[in-house]
Amino acid sequence: MRILEEKTLPVIVTNRASWEGGNAAVGEPARLKVLADAAAAGADFIDVELAAFAEFRSLFGASAIPRPTRLILSHHNFDRALTLPEIRAVYADMVDADCDVCKVAMAAGSATDNAVAFAALGEADERPMVMLVMGELGQVSRVVAGKFGAFLTFASVGEGREAAPGQVDTATLAGLYGYRGITAETKVFGVIGNPVSHSMSPALHNAAFRDAGIDAVYVPLKVDDDIAAFIRTMVPQGFHGFSVTIPGKVQALDAMDEVEGVTKKIGAMNTVVTAAAEGGGVGLRGYNTDWVAAISAIEEGLEASNRSLTGARVLCIGAGGAGRGLAYGALARGASEVVIANRTAAKAEALAADIGEGTRAALLEDVTNGLEGRFDVVMNTTSVGMHPNVSDSPVAGGADVLTAMGQPLVFDAVYNPLNTKLLGEARSAGCVCVSGLEMFVRQAAEQFRLWFPEIPPNVELMRSVVMAKLDVARL
Ligand code: NAP
Repeated sequence: MRILEEKTLPVIVTNRASWEGGNAAVGEPARLKVLADAAAAGADFIDVELAAFAEFRSLFGASAIPRPTRLILSHHNFDRALTLPEIRAVYADMVDADCDVCKVAMAAGSATDNAVAFAALGEADERPMVMLVMGELGQVSRVVAGKFGAFLTFASVGEGREAAPGQVDTATLAGLYGYRGITAETKVFGVIGNPVSHSMSPALHNAAFRDAGIDAVYVPLKVDDDIAAFIRTMVPQGFHGFSVTIPGKVQALDAMDEVEGVTKKIGAMNTVVTAAAEGGGVGLRGYNTDWVAAISAIEEGLEASNRSLTGARVLCIGAGGAGRGLAYGALARGASEVVIANRTAAKAEALAADIGEGTRAALLEDVTNGLEGRFDVVMNTTSVGMHPNVSDSPVAGGADVLTAMGQPLVFDAVYNPLNTKLLGEARSAGCVCVSGLEMFVRQAAEQFRLWFPEIPPNVELMRSVVMAKLDVARL
């Protein structure tokens, strides 16, 4: 009760039953008495399980629950997500019990369950509601709750001190996501991936939105099932655009109404743009800003030494998603030949065959030992050299081979560390270097341009956010 005497903010008192996922260590009568005592002592809110309400209510006999305490009735399901009709039924029971606030928290079966939660909040017009989807799949329901009129959200007091799965800490909620500024008008963007908690995109895009005075929030969206279904489900809930990262870049194409030309050829996308569709509704357009980002950075590097991609001979190391985009991109910007070399030779051959004219597969050992002649540009699109394997390089022959190749411009898609072994050796061979940081920052800047064509992105700010996030000290 001392907490109530010394409180500086409104206080919710709860004593969650173990049968509803809580830690109450006493029997039911004693557990409920704590809540009744809190009401008598003037707690702003008490949170009582709907299932325990009849017993709790009986503690007061014919008298009312003391005011000004307000009653939150809650229902938690840690095993599964509820359907919208089930939530409606729980909400109706809570309203019948004459609570002040209805609270429903449910486990996530799928990231699309967030849409059910948002729909439930949208319908809640008889009493204020709190509606949460638990776990990382439901984190967005906690972060953007305010957009859908939620009475409040729950956050942890610090990282690692979460009281329920998926909670964000208060500093991140208020700072990174600007929770207090989120209203029904706030546009929601996010990065879809799995895993996605490590992504630097929320820090970068939220900073850029704020800098440009845009009323929008950008959140990580873990999706571990049908990505196309997730996109289709969230757009009607007011989601305005998405970034898509591994493993969703191919599957997301299925949700699009229209796919940009080179993106279609690449067969992988990383950006969803929403626009009003002819005849009503919202149309979805897919873009790939990865290749534009890397190729524009390479072009700028070439220009600085009075060279260009037109007619250039390009070596693409790697034949995965990034390799595919960059090989197409280099050809789209005028390269005369793109030689594709990959650890798994069959994949390089398949990519070269798929792209066709202007490409050829070569053996990785041959190119990295300097047996494939001169190149104007060398692009590493593999993860070789990425933290923690910082002493690896995809060019086995090092600086000598790069010199023998004719001091090509060297691009490394890896950006952690910024200064990879490959780039270090390229610099000592006198090559112009372009780091993966440029690709990362530019793909984000290009996304921003697609989402807000009238507002120029603050690319310098984006770069500094990523630099600050990377452990520069370690590099
Ligand atoms: P991916 O589709 O999984 O392809 C991975 C590629 O790396 C394949 O060619 C693979 O060869 C090769 N590889 C992996 N480990 C290797 C090893 N130990 N030795 C030799 N080759 C190896 O991945 P992705 O999406 O293309 O991404 C590749 C890299 O680009 C990652 O490091 C990623 O972080 C980076 N990237 C950076 C940006 C940026 O903005 N800077 C954007 C996208 C990607 P096999 O076919 O033989 O497996």
